[in-house]
Amino acid sequence: MNVEIVNTGSELMLGRVLNTHQQWLCRRLADLGHVVTRQVAIADTGSEIQQAVREALGRADLIITTGGLGPTSDDLTRELIAELLGKKLIANKEVLAHIENFFAKRGRPRPQKTDVETLVPEGAEVFLNQTGTAPGLAMEIGNSQWLVMLPGPPRELRPMFDTFVVPLLKREFADEIFVCRTLLTTGIGESRVQEFVEADLQPLVARGLEVGYCARPGAVDVRLVASGAAAAKLAAEAEAVVQRILGENIFGRDDEEIEQVVVKLLRQKQKTLAVAESCTGGLLANRITDVPGASEIFLGGVVSYANVAKEKFLGVRAETLAAHGAVSEAVAREMAVGARGKFGSDLAIAMTGIAGPAGGTPEKPVGTVFIALASAAGVEVKKFLNVWDRATFKQVTATQALEWLRRTLSA
Ligand code: ATP
Ligand code: MG
Repeated sequence: MNVEIVNTGSELMLGRVLNTHQQWLCRRLADLGHVVTRQVAIADTGSEIQQAVREALGRADLIITTGGLGPTSDDLTRELIAELLGKKLIANKEVLAHIENFFAKRGRPRPQKTDVETLVPEGAEVFLNQTGTAPGLAMEIGNSQWLVMLPGPPRELRPMFDTFVVPLLKREFADEIFVCRTLLTTGIGESRVQEFVEADLQPLVARGLEVGYCARPGAVDVRLVASGAAAAKLAAEAEAVVQRILGENIFGRDDEEIEQVVVKLLRQKQKTLAVAESCTGGLLANRITDVPGASEIFLGGVVSYANVAKEKFLGVRAETLAAHGAVSEAVAREMAVGARGKFGSDLAIAMTGIAGPAGGTPEKPVGTVFIALASAAGVEVKKFLNVWDRATFKQVTATQALEWLRRTLSA
């Protein structure tokens, strides 16, 4: 099966918007067993869109276009494709009601310009937009060739893909059994992960298993893919091998994030958490509060960047700061104990480190981080050396804190 993606939008060609649909859709489709064969990004002008879609129709079984379904004058995808296919556009009552409801809920009158979003090419399937107004559209063209049009904003495209396109794919293109498992690891680098599991997976690779490794800040994904009649068995065997070898380092599977796992564990164990952050500048609190339900277990955090803030809000002693410096085991320890005391939480985790590029010394080079975890059992400190750019340093450090929490909570 050939799948092609056509991303429309002059903002993509001008470099004003990162084409995240390309990556997101390819990833989702690959996980469903449909590897994208070609993708193009084009400006939203009439000739470009029609030409790109015409060409794709000559090759692909499934074409997905993104963008240009909105109400403004640069949103032309719907009309251009209808014209190309010789389909009439017909105002759809269900879509109109949906859009009216969208504006009514927000206490605003429906702009006349949204009339155009109610137009549906004859015979098309309509995907009502759960997070916006313009619906997605799907058309069968000839014999089991499909054209799907999705809106531009990621917050609209993503839920629409999951709600409507996934079932459509299962219905129309589910010819081959395909199993994909992604095991998410942390604490070991990409090449080490591969070294550890490669030899033991080799017999399964010989039977058709595909293995992929993907490094992200602080994490490595191991992707196991099998297809055909024995797919489920092969994938399960492969998963067992990876679990046996990397078990401790596996924090989740598929699309899970480590913060989701930590929040889930805290809720299960009915433990509360507070954080004291220096070098991560609030990133850890941000990642935790990205998880729905975090309010049940997360009491709060202090971004204590300056020494004075560490003293004032966490009770770190001036003597400790003077004797050991802000980036030290002793200060991390007092930050965690202080946060636990101030918030009255079961657990408190604290981080202090040198993000760089300046500020390193021979004893404490750039990348040095101390993480402390305080609980009823006392306080422990670990030292890490995270030599990265600032943004990656913050992500990696927050992930290490989360991983420590995960291990403590699953022990
Ligand atoms: P709208 O009703 O918002 O106009 P639309 O379906 O017409 O939606 P576009 O006008 O093409 O979509 O894009 C709207 C916005 O969605 C863009 O300004 C951009 O922020 C975002 N967007 C569009 N395409 C992409 C893409 N490929 N990757 C990431 N974001 C995108
Ligand atoms: Mg638009």
